[in-house]
Amino acid sequence: MSQELIHEIIPVGMLQCNCSILGDPATGEAIVVDPGDEVERILAVVRRHGLKVRTIVSTHTHIDHVGGLAELHRETGAPVLIHEADLELYKNLDVQAQWLGIPTPVMMRIQDFVRDGDTLRWGGYQARVLHTPGHTPGSISLVVGANPAPPTEGRPAATADSTASARLLAGDTLFQGSIGRTDLPGGSFPQILASIREKLLVLPEDLVVYPGHGDTTTIGSEREFNPFLR
Ligand SMILES: [Zn+2]
Ligand SMILES: [Zn+2]
Repeated sequence: MSQELIHEIIPVGMLQCNCSILGDPATGEAIVVDPGDEVERILAVVRRHGLKVRTIVSTHTHIDHVGGLAELHRETGAPVLIHEADLELYKNLDVQAQWLGIPTPVMMRIQDFVRDGDTLRWGGYQARVLHTPGHTPGSISLVVGANPAPPTEGRPAATADSTASARLLAGDTLFQGSIGRTDLPGGSFPQILASIREKLLVLPEDLVVYPGHGDTTTIGSEREFNPFLR
């Protein structure tokens, strides 16, 4: 792969959710993660890179991560994916909007779901789905990387984690120096700790983490310095 993965991050909406646009410059295929709001800005980035959105996925269904799903789906025609354990929460988008005192965004019927271990593919790239419940029941994290090269005689397939494009999209499960809140309906403190320890901290130390809000970090730095994980 000669060109690098396109990864544009737009903090969208009142809560500044990090929306990621991940594109393959070679094929023009892309996925959009967490289109919480400001779909026009997201589409402007998609157009600027000449991308075709193949898949839209939300790491969980808090309003700041799903507010733009219906509009982006309408504009791109791309399928929308969430974890099924978060479907109830999505159906309560009007209640979530009331908490924040904002209008309820346009909603859609979500009927495609991801499970732990699924792989989403676009161009030469992929994202492996990790079910990391705790912040919400259906929270997921995505391990992004290049598609493993097909195995050839006498040489094992490369793993996505060993490439320069490897990164983790952690949603609101893991933040730089913090973890997701668990005091909202469906949240569980023991569960988020178990998810982080068993699914995320076992990933390579130098893997760059893109949380759902705020700055990037690495697995190693959170393992060492995150006060919630000591
Ligand atoms: Zn959230
Ligand atoms: Zn959030």
